[in-house]
Amino acid sequence: MKLILLGPPGAGKGTQAEFLSERFGIPAISTGAIIRDVIASGSDEGKAIKERIDSGNLLSDETVVEMVKNRLTKEDCKNGFMLDGFPRTINQAKALDDMEIVIDKVLSIELSDEEIIKRLSGRRECKNCRASYHVEDNPPKKPGVCDRCGGELIIRADDNPETIKNRLSVYYESTEPLKSYYEKKGLLVTARGQKALPDTKREVLKALGEI
Ligand SMILES: [Zn+2]
Repeated sequence: MKLILLGPPGAGKGTQAEFLSERFGIPAISTGAIIRDVIASGSDEGKAIKERIDSGNLLSDETVVEMVKNRLTKEDCKNGFMLDGFPRTINQAKALDDMEIVIDKVLSIELSDEEIIKRLSGRRECKNCRASYHVEDNPPKKPGVCDRCGGELIIRADDNPETIKNRLSVYYESTEPLKSYYEKKGLLVTARGQKALPDTKREVLKALGEI
């Protein structure tokens, strides 16, 4: 199974990626993780990338595509893989096509803006141990206090309502066109995010034709 996972921030993409990775025995590959690995390797490439990121620059499509390409040649990808966070642009999608990698399905997890804002703005993170909570879905025993270490719970900078709106518009601008791109190729399937996790998992399996 060769899958691409799409979905706005807050749609629970990471959780579904973990679930599908286990279910199909394929690695969930995110560009974020690839970049961290390349940097941690301490190679010349890693040093160059770290410098670029530290100076606040975005990585070029070319660089990202090259890193993904290398990652997909590894042993654990021989039965398939799931790409999470790549491609992010039409250019990257075309580059993936050029690699002659046949994708089986592109799964888009959908959630209304209202639901996304509610989910993200309710998230809290421990200042100390970074444990995560949600004021409604996963509240700490004592409001504002971490169950694990007693640390103070804070709202992450990128979960502020204004920032969330920004992240969503960036998503719609750059990633939504990917949906049409893959729809034309007949690869797009969609699943609606549900309130309860087991329900979302079922929607996802249904979309993939597994149930
Ligand atoms: Zn804590």
